[in-house]
Amino acid sequence: MIKEIRAKTLVSRVKGIDTYFGLDYGMNLYRGCQHRCIYCDSRSECYGIENFDGDVLVKVNAVDLLRSELPRKRKRGIIGTGSMNDPYMPLEEKFGLTRRALEVIAEQGFGVHVLTKSDLVLRDVPILKRIGRVAAAVSMTITTIDDELAKIVEPGSPPSSARFRALEALAEQGIETRIALMPTLPFIEDDWANVSAIVDRAHECGVKAIIPWFGMSMRDRQRAYFYRRLDKHFPGLRATYEKTYGHDYMCPSPNAKELFDRFAERCASYEITIAVRPHLAPTAEQLPLV
Ligand code: SF4
Repeated sequence: MIKEIRAKTLVSRVKGIDTYFGLDYGMNLYRGCQHRCIYCDSRSECYGIENFDGDVLVKVNAVDLLRSELPRKRKRGIIGTGSMNDPYMPLEEKFGLTRRALEVIAEQGFGVHVLTKSDLVLRDVPILKRIGRVAAAVSMTITTIDDELAKIVEPGSPPSSARFRALEALAEQGIETRIALMPTLPFIEDDWANVSAIVDRAHECGVKAIIPWFGMSMRDRQRAYFYRRLDKHFPGLRATYEKTYGHDYMCPSPNAKELFDRFAERCASYEITIAVRPHLAPTAEQLPLV
């Protein structure tokens, strides 16, 4: 169900240095997400979103909050959007909060980093170009080259092929593009054929950087939901996960080291930056939400 709410605050300062996306601030215009990725960390109890797969809350006063909060910030920096929800999920077409927030960011001279899985971002190219006079980048999360697999693991998102086409169009418009290659689901997506195909296609689309993580996180409600989807779509795989990871939060791919080495070599051959320090298993604090 879609519910309209009024938020008290919107923009939060990013603590420490954001080694993934270089963010200074974060904002969430919505709470909950229509993309329903089977691995989504936002289902975890610590975020307190009770009905993550049922309700999406729309912060109807978000743009007013943004307009009043930004002038009070001591530093003009990069504002990130796209953690714990996708700023271009289908309901953005109706509510347009992301679009209006980008207008405010452009007016007030801040930069932006958009993390999304949707080609709806193309609608806002003119505003992103204006923000780009300060700094604008779009990262598309892509975890598989296979559209059929994407339908299973990211059922509410546009197919990976559409995301690549969007990256290509953004790059043609001079907007800096990146791929968040994370998570890489162990035993499902962590093979070289998948990873190399993503890097090759990224190169064709003019992508400047890829932020990889060869593994996933799992905890409480997130794990329970993911295992239910495994039972439905990958019968028997839950047992492999349980044996490999037990109750661990950080679940790196058994192939992580080999994948990372080959990935780094392929990226170097295309002069694609790896926008992350070369650690294979980030700590919980370093792991961005995807
Ligand atoms: S991973 Fe991102 S796009 Fe997918 S459901 Fe979670 S917040 Fe939405």
